[in-house]
Amino acid sequence: MASDRTPHSFPTFESAEDERRHRKQRLAAAFRLFGQFGFDEGVAGHITARDPERLDHFWVNPFGMNFKQIRVQDLLLVNHEGEVVEGNWPVNRAAFVIHSQVHAARPDVIAAAHAHSVYGKTWSSLRRPLDPLTQDACAFYGDHAVFDDFTGVVLDLEEGKRIAHALAGNKAAILANHGLLTVGQSVDEAAWWFITMERTCQAQLLAEAAGTPVLIDPEQAELTAAQVGHRSSGWYSFQPLYDWITAQQPDLLEE
Ligand SMILES: [Zn+2]
Repeated sequence: MASDRTPHSFPTFESAEDERRHRKQRLAAAFRLFGQFGFDEGVAGHITARDPERLDHFWVNPFGMNFKQIRVQDLLLVNHEGEVVEGNWPVNRAAFVIHSQVHAARPDVIAAAHAHSVYGKTWSSLRRPLDPLTQDACAFYGDHAVFDDFTGVVLDLEEGKRIAHALAGNKAAILANHGLLTVGQSVDEAAWWFITMERTCQAQLLAEAAGTPVLIDPEQAELTAAQVGHRSSGWYSFQPLYDWITAQQPDLLEE
């Protein structure tokens, strides 16, 4: 029997409206997946997607809505002053403060993800970058930063600026004593980097608890980084998760 499924290909859009719908669908799906993986912690955590037309506006989750229940129609559009211009829920102040500054500092960043996932926040307390211990870990080799300055809940725009400065041109930052932050040129990519970075933290914690892990040598780590750490690899790795979550929970696409 022939399959009705076709291989994934990178999307192109006829209009900004199509592109916006696509980004919002990916964003709602990313929240469902983060919920499925247990990355939520009370009301903490946010993923943003830049609007394709209003480039200083972004789409984000409603403050206090469970990741596992977010639908496309629930997403908020927030402007560069932190005002909700579409949607009728409040926005998380920390989401605005961190993400607005990351989106402003990095015009290439379409999406950014942050959550207080267990292995990410545990690793962040060590205030060390991740080592190239596994093939998957190489996605972050030479491509993540440590923001080692914890001063409480991020509510001040200046701190958002300092986080964006620490992130610099990297795909991810470890926020000390707090959690992980990842970015990408698509929602798919940012969400995938978060998922695999969380597991990379878990793998390193396990390896160091069990013994003295042997690092991949720099030359091989660099080669592997170019393979698994490329943005197209990040985008592609998200596709089977998107297919699965939209098949399991089609209500997430409700507009
Ligand atoms: Zn946080």
